[in-house]
Amino acid sequence: MTWGELLNWAAQLLKKAGVDKPGLEAELLLAETLGIPRLELMLCRRETAKRAGIKKFKKFITLRRRRIPAAYILQNAFFYGLKFSIEKGVLIPRPETELLVEETLKAVHRSSFIVDSKKIKILDVGTGSGAIAVTLAKNLEAARVYGTDVSAKALTVTRKNAISHKVAGRLRLKRGSLLAGLPGKFDIIISNPPYINERDMKRLQPEVNYEPRTALSGGQDGLDFYRKIIPLARERLATKGFLALEIGYDQAGAIEKMLRTRGFERIEIKKDYAGIDRIIIAS
Ligand code: SAM
Ligand code: GLN
Repeated sequence: MTWGELLNWAAQLLKKAGVDKPGLEAELLLAETLGIPRLELMLCRRETAKRAGIKKFKKFITLRRRRIPAAYILQNAFFYGLKFSIEKGVLIPRPETELLVEETLKAVHRSSFIVDSKKIKILDVGTGSGAIAVTLAKNLEAARVYGTDVSAKALTVTRKNAISHKVAGRLRLKRGSLLAGLPGKFDIIISNPPYINERDMKRLQPEVNYEPRTALSGGQDGLDFYRKIIPLARERLATKGFLALEIGYDQAGAIEKMLRTRGFERIEIKKDYAGIDRIIIAS
């Protein structure tokens, strides 16, 4: 049997299991089996599959058929072009969150005060794998980044990612709720908080059910976290600082109202790839 035939067999099985984009997922798992970039797979499609590789790949496919997310099987995921270690118990970073990072970087480069001042202070609330915190540290060389999370497991993974991307010296982590244990003011407060409402929590994709509830559930209407972070951010943002938030598909209106009530005047709302309001930058 060739690698190409094996790939087709796997894609069929994943399709039957209800996996979204089964062909792509099979390729991802085979690329990892062979230790090559996905785009190089076409070069070995006609090659006879080797026994050790077949065994490993079949194991991956068995797990993926149970709808375990690929990131938990492979223990890594790509975010903003960087490879992150991921473990069960830690949220898998999403493409929407790449937009949060991108809009934040744009806002930094727009505001002359931040570029001028040498060391900007950034706080990532609910840092999880550290996808946001590590990527910002990597892209803003003079920044000092702080991250909090209630999950000790998440913070061990954050630390690992900070070390592998060589930003550990500029990233300070604190276990605790919201801003607890990190006094002072910040130029940027950023967060992708848990924001799924109770109704939607009951109908998650099977894959998402493998992810931690504390990373996803935002209470009855999904807005619990925003009710807490917005007033805190108002107190703890430096003059000219800004708040950058990822939000749920139907939350822009309610969150904009909360921001205005708390005195935020400049509010920008950005859409994601599906045309849904997803990012808010407020100052
Ligand atoms: N920042 C990561 C990302 O974007 O991939 C993870 C985001 S995940 C949606 C939310 C994170 O917030 C989880 O890691 C969860 O453990 C953490 N969290 C939940 N409640 C929290 C709280 N009260 N204070 C701090 N972190 C919290
Ligand atoms: N975007 C995630 C999902 O839909 C939710 C992440 C979050 O609550 N911040 O699965």
